[in-house]
Amino acid sequence: MPLPKLDPSGRDIEYRQRSFKEISRIVYTWLFINDAGHREMDRDILGLDPLSSKGWQSMGVLHYLGLKKEFKGIFFNIDLSQAIDQLKSDEQNFSFIIELLEGTSTEYSEALIRSLYEERKSQDRDFEEHYKLRLRELEGTDGRSNRTQSRKEQGILRAILFRDAHEAECAICQKTLPTDLMVAAHIKPRSKCSVSERKNPNVVMPICKVGCDDFFEKGYVLVDSDGVIQANPKMEYSSELRKILNKIIGRQCTHFSKDTAQFFEYKRN
Ligand SMILES: [Zn+2]
Repeated sequence: MPLPKLDPSGRDIEYRQRSFKEISRIVYTWLFINDAGHREMDRDILGLDPLSSKGWQSMGVLHYLGLKKEFKGIFFNIDLSQAIDQLKSDEQNFSFIIELLEGTSTEYSEALIRSLYEERKSQDRDFEEHYKLRLRELEGTDGRSNRTQSRKEQGILRAILFRDAHEAECAICQKTLPTDLMVAAHIKPRSKCSVSERKNPNVVMPICKVGCDDFFEKGYVLVDSDGVIQANPKMEYSSELRKILNKIIGRQCTHFSKDTAQFFEYKRN
């Protein structure tokens, strides 16, 4: 049986305000729950007061993706892998919807980490050692020994960037510093990344915790379309901060390339 036709609204205002996780949960609920309503999703997924939001936030997200009322509950009582097979075999392109659905499941999150790990291991025979080293380093840094999915993911990304080096160069200030003062920082915020973007090692860069991590993450500096570090015109700077930032503004970000440009662009906008 063919699936209903996607009918995207072209209006992305509500969609742009939401994280990948929130969008995933909205889509999952709409397709898999029989009696899901927009107001209930605004309340249960987005934490909004449905009396004032009126369900428009989750509705805006679904309409942007083309999932109007014809899609409501179409996968009720069907399991996720079966539903994904059905989406894959349809003549329309549901690849992004599939990614969103995959994003809802811890099973897929484990699969993401496994595939990131296995892929690197096949390219680098010392990868396992480097990964163990980086996990120990993370535990040494914050004194905790939990091995959550996000910790493993950070361990893998650090092993990719730093291998067995004791020092690394910051992509922003270009100082060479001990790796325990460095992070594998997401250029595009991790919460906004799709599953396939999180599997792409180009989504991270090495930056120092001695300033640059916060300067970049909080938007005090931007990387422009030529890879040059710039002040953010939307930010206000005290004269002391301006003095600190002047040392890095105008430099070329060493991690800018054709493979990373799209992530910097996302961050700028
Ligand atoms: Zn730095």
